[in-house]
Amino acid sequence: MDCIFCKIVAKEIPTNFIYEDENVVVFLDIKPSAPIHYLVVPKKHIQSVRHLANEDKELVSDVIYAAKIAAEELHLSGYKLVFNVGREGGQVIDHLHLHLLGGWSVGSREIDEMPHPEIDK
Ligand code: AMP
Ligand code: ZN
Repeated sequence: MDCIFCKIVAKEIPTNFIYEDENVVVFLDIKPSAPIHYLVVPKKHIQSVRHLANEDKELVSDVIYAAKIAAEELHLSGYKLVFNVGREGGQVIDHLHLHLLGGWSVGSREIDEMPHPEIDK
């Protein structure tokens, strides 16, 4: 199958994984859209969230949990996790992936305006 993320997972394209377990890898996005931008990718080829089967439910948890671990290793206390789904949803690579985005500085005024700052504790 001609899938770039399958090739990355299979290490046919040399890529530095910041996290890898039995089911998931995490690596730097080649064209970052945020100061910190990683991709959390299941080793199994699934086209998108729309193509998830009942049997893939646990794998989705693995992907989200890998993002949490990677974020901890990157010392991110706040970040965004984004799945683009289908062309209309901005998905370009047809192998399911979770964007881990962060690294923005938050001004103290904005923090004061947040309703529940204790969430970061
Ligand atoms: P999406 O638009 O959700 O399909 O996101 C695909 C992401 O993959 C984009 O942010 C690209 O910059 C990124 N990308 C494409 N090719 C590579 C690659 N070879 N290595 C790392 N990231 C890539
Ligand atoms: Zn693939």
